[in-house]
Amino acid sequence: MEKQMQLLWELQEIDAGLDQIRDTQESFAPKLDNIKEDITLLESAGQEYQQELAAKEVERRDLRDVVERFKGLIALSKEKIAQISNNKEYFAVLKELEHNQKSVEKNEVELLGLIEEIDSIKEQIADNDKELATKHEEMAKEEKAITSKIASLERKIKAGGKGRLAKSKEIDELFLRRYQRIRRRFNDAVVAVEKGTCLGCHVNVPPQVYIDLLKGQALMNCPNCQRIMVNLGGADSEK
Ligand SMILES: [Zn+2]
Repeated sequence: MEKQMQLLWELQEIDAGLDQIRDTQESFAPKLDNIKEDITLLESAGQEYQQELAAKEVERRDLRDVVERFKGLIALSKEKIAQISNNKEYFAVLKELEHNQKSVEKNEVELLGLIEEIDSIKEQIADNDKELATKHEEMAKEEKAITSKIASLERKIKAGGKGRLAKSKEIDELFLRRYQRIRRRFNDAVVAVEKGTCLGCHVNVPPQVYIDLLKGQALMNCPNCQRIMVNLGGADSEK
């Protein structure tokens, strides 16, 4: 195979590797976006739970204060009763005592309900945090997977020797332009011809064209699909 054809072939291998990197990134992108979206939703849910919890804690504190105040009044009434001598005053204080005791009962029931609500919010926060941690783990796993996959693709390209720019500089500009034009239509712009058949379109090339190719004439296009043909058999024998 002509040196130029071989360079084109190698350039195509680099381009195929770069395509693979791009495809890998594109294939991972939706997955990463989905996880990111889930994380955002869980984080905002977590913030809402925290705000709800804070508000309920304030309510609980206020309600406890109310209970304590009524308990104080009850203690006061009990002291008073011990010192009372007349009936009228006695019944008045007793009535007040009853009223305050009922208030304590009512508020304590409310307080219990509030504590239950707070516990359930705390459970929801714990569940949310757990789910969030799972999503973060999932994200880290995916990121690690894509990073290692791309790194291995990059290593493969580097193992082929020069980078794309250096390689393309060695190629005749006319060849390069033609290669790039054909590659817009076919990823495999440069194809091998085996036993007279173009491996791009699988159509037999005319015998005379094939003979010219075997002779090593550079830059021949398949008459059917226009891909650039290379004679790999020739390349192998050169190696
Ligand atoms: Zn063809």
